[in-house]
Amino acid sequence: MELEWLDSRIVDGLSELVLVFDERGQILFGNQAALEKLEYERDELTECNMTQIFRQVFSRAGESSDVFDRSRVEGRGDIAMYRKNSSCFPADVHILPAARAGAYVLLAEDVTVLRDMNLRMRELREEGQENLRRRNEFTANVTHELRTPVNGIKGHVTTLLNEVQDEGLRRTLDIILYCCDNMSAIINNILDFSKLETGKFTIEEKEFDFYKMMDRVIATHTAEIHKKELRLSVDIDERIPRLLIGDELRLVQILNNLLSNAVKFTMAGSVSVVAGKTMQAGDEVELFFMVKDSGIGISPQEQDKLFQSFSQVDASITRRFGGTGLGLAITKQLVELMHGDVHLESEKGKGSTFSFSVKLRTDQQADENQNEVYVDWSEYTNKENTEDAGILQFGEQENRAELKKRMDKLVLSIEMGAWDKAEMLASTVKALVEKGDDDIKKQVLRMEMAIRKCNHDKSMAMYENLKAALSERIGEL
Ligand code: ADP
Repeated sequence: MELEWLDSRIVDGLSELVLVFDERGQILFGNQAALEKLEYERDELTECNMTQIFRQVFSRAGESSDVFDRSRVEGRGDIAMYRKNSSCFPADVHILPAARAGAYVLLAEDVTVLRDMNLRMRELREEGQENLRRRNEFTANVTHELRTPVNGIKGHVTTLLNEVQDEGLRRTLDIILYCCDNMSAIINNILDFSKLETGKFTIEEKEFDFYKMMDRVIATHTAEIHKKELRLSVDIDERIPRLLIGDELRLVQILNNLLSNAVKFTMAGSVSVVAGKTMQAGDEVELFFMVKDSGIGISPQEQDKLFQSFSQVDASITRRFGGTGLGLAITKQLVELMHGDVHLESEKGKGSTFSFSVKLRTDQQADENQNEVYVDWSEYTNKENTEDAGILQFGEQENRAELKKRMDKLVLSIEMGAWDKAEMLASTVKALVEKGDDDIKKQVLRMEMAIRKCNHDKSMAMYENLKAALSERIGEL
């Protein structure tokens, strides 16, 4: 058969194997790479049929060796190609119709190295998973074994506390209880982390009272806050439905972790907690939380590592404050399981703000005014000077309710990426705050939350701009 259409010099230069064959599988040509790989002389190869090269496929099927069914070879990434001496190698094979009718070109690449690498990687992955499984089994056993004696000590100490009158002894018993609680917290963290790592963690869907939950979270930390003489501010968005459906225990765990860190790392100044509703569509509610402190802060380099497991800023901090460095890694994973994310903004020496969002459900439907879909911008389009119009309109006492609505729209526009409108409203807000309107502080906070939450360049720029303009007042919030 004439192969004048084939430029053998070019084809011989290719590193891939090239075999030209006819309808019946008779080989008409093999390039240099094919000859070398298959270990045939040029004349010998053209005596062969493709079924000899792919003998595993064809002999297995028990078909006659001179019928070559192309479709059984085409597109296979790991098919065995046989050498003259009957040894074989895995190949990635493609077949194209040749320039002349009745002929086909097969392109093949030896994937031995790739296959070995994949095999090795699979082995390593399996080994890793096995190690992880063993480690987690060990962790589960050890933590379980540790829990029992700690609970035993706690039980006895509590009984003693009820009986002992001596003040000195009571103080000692209190310290023992405190140490036991710390130990329980560490054991629980290790157990949670190990479960999260193996994907064995499930998020509950149960109804709970959001406001009661927040009260309990705050109450857990007030004693320590008073002891350290810190100021505490709590701002909870009253638009958050009372009854929510989700994992209360885990939400409490996240908040407790952030709040205990905020208190732990703040020697003087304040700690604030903000909870806001940033979205409600149908029965889905998105909440956004901020835990802000004026404590020791975290440098940018240190911030990068913080959400990894066992990460603490430095060893001296561990000695001074204790902890395992697991809290934030767990927090991040729990938040992600609740379809949200965590952000940190911090400056060394000035304080930190941890914020996160979570998605929950509610049985209560959003009323129309609160629904995300409700954004009516028509009234802004015919105002020449929005800033002035804003001050006049919202600065008046009787228009507070109206102001709230506008702020809601600002939050929505930020979330929806309607930047022109958001900027227009942001300037109104800025002007109002500069006028010293205390009532809108809360609303500004809400906007700050929305801006942080969407974490978009444009919103960040707007936030920086607002922050600079309102630095004094925002500092008071
Ligand atoms: P730990 O149990 O050690 O507190 P975390 O994962 O909760 O573990 O925190 C890891 C580290 O992050 C802490 O050891 C501390 O160095 C730093 N960190 C966390 N929160 C704050 C904060 N509010 N202010 C300053 N540093 C913090």
